[in-house]
Amino acid sequence: MTGSNVRLRLAPSPTGFLHVATLRLALYNYLFVQQHGGQFILRIEDTDQARTVEGAIEAIYAALEWAGIPLDESPKIGGPYAPYMQSERTPRHQEVARRLVTEGTAYRCFCTKERLTELRESQEKRGLPPQYDRKCRHMTETEVAEELQKGTPHTIRIKMPLEGEIIGEDLLRGKIVFPAKDQDDAILLKTDGFATYHLAAMVDDADMKITHVVRGEEWIPSYPKHIEIIKACGFPMPKFVHTTLILNEDRTKLSKRKGPVAVSNFIEAGYLREALINFLMMVGWTGPETNKELYTMDELLKVFSFDRLTTAPAVFKYEKLDWFNGNYIRSKSPEALEADLVEYLTYMKNIVVTEDAFTIPSIHQTIPRATFRKMVTHAQQKMVKMSEFVPSLDVYFSLAEYNTSLFFNEKMKVDAAMAKTAMAFLLPILEEIQEWSIDSLKETIMAKIAEAGYKNGQILWPMRVALSGLPMSPGAFEMADVLGKEETMQRLQTGLEKLS
Ligand code: GLU
Repeated sequence: MTGSNVRLRLAPSPTGFLHVATLRLALYNYLFVQQHGGQFILRIEDTDQARTVEGAIEAIYAALEWAGIPLDESPKIGGPYAPYMQSERTPRHQEVARRLVTEGTAYRCFCTKERLTELRESQEKRGLPPQYDRKCRHMTETEVAEELQKGTPHTIRIKMPLEGEIIGEDLLRGKIVFPAKDQDDAILLKTDGFATYHLAAMVDDADMKITHVVRGEEWIPSYPKHIEIIKACGFPMPKFVHTTLILNEDRTKLSKRKGPVAVSNFIEAGYLREALINFLMMVGWTGPETNKELYTMDELLKVFSFDRLTTAPAVFKYEKLDWFNGNYIRSKSPEALEADLVEYLTYMKNIVVTEDAFTIPSIHQTIPRATFRKMVTHAQQKMVKMSEFVPSLDVYFSLAEYNTSLFFNEKMKVDAAMAKTAMAFLLPILEEIQEWSIDSLKETIMAKIAEAGYKNGQILWPMRVALSGLPMSPGAFEMADVLGKEETMQRLQTGLEKLS
């Protein structure tokens, strides 16, 4: 389908960074738009100037770009309904608010902050929910004119219905019924002249021809206000989807006090975009196939639908994300993983790429491309996050201080004498090898082991220990291949000396 009128928007406030919950919303928006040949819009909701943080907008673009979610319209790209920065739309919000006053669906409220605070405190004391008592809703025209004459600061409030029910339709939750008596006359325009979220978002959504509003369930309590604002303005009613909250494992709301939540934190920690996306999609959404957890973007495009979102709060399990990441790392071709690693290290400003080598400044090493590829292939077996890659290279550049007890391995039938024998056995064989490659190493050594009647582990375990000095490392052949002949011989010699 192309050219449909489906238009969805992401409307983050630039308060610091892009939260993973916002990335999840962006994914829902993007998938739905793609399925319907519609448009995906980014609107920056920066009317709360006090909370606006410098650099936050750039962080939003960077996170979406990293995730591979393209935008059709945004403050940067522009579009037919610009401006896409909410604060620049203030004159339009003010015009609508004034129109509602003129039409009698909204009113000016001259109550002071002090009065409103007193009112709230007395309601709280009596155990009542805080609610504006609608004093100014009953002012006469003359009273209003007098206050305006005096220049008394005022807000503009919506006149909510006083009785009956306000009924919302949520694509995920169905009908949501709100008794009118519980509703407050929400402020549309603040004393500083800026619109509140309630008015600004409804006006902008209508002006930008948004067809579906996908937002967090924390907005459900405000939903009746929005319904009434949209009706008062005479705007078409968009479809609403209120998505579930994301919780920490202790069931508190996912926040940076409990662990990383910014998309940039996950990029820095070395998660692959496929893994983070797949994981986030599985937080609060279930696919049509039970037990299937791994979904590529293409698969998601085929099977995503709003009605498969869960309404129960979804728990964010960092360990599960690691599982996804390890899975994706291992399922990649070495070429693809290398490209991801280079991209990651570039992001971390820890790689210099030249035609035939990669330099890693943090470890002061320049690695020929062919060797780098081998290192990638070896790291791929165990790596959970890409941040583990550079530390995994230490083994090739320096031999760890190790204790000879590492050589002993009951299962492999290696004791001190056997380890020493292995070193002495290997040195002359390796000396003879002319063409140093993993295949020739494997072929020659395995043949000699068979010929001598040893068990493979009796030679290969001590060899691996001598080459790495670590309890765990890439295998003996892999290590020797990367180290090259000279360094391999040197490390075996060191092993022999340690054992003597
Ligand atoms: N600016 C609001 C927020 O960041 C947007 C909510 C919405 O999507 O309407 O929560």
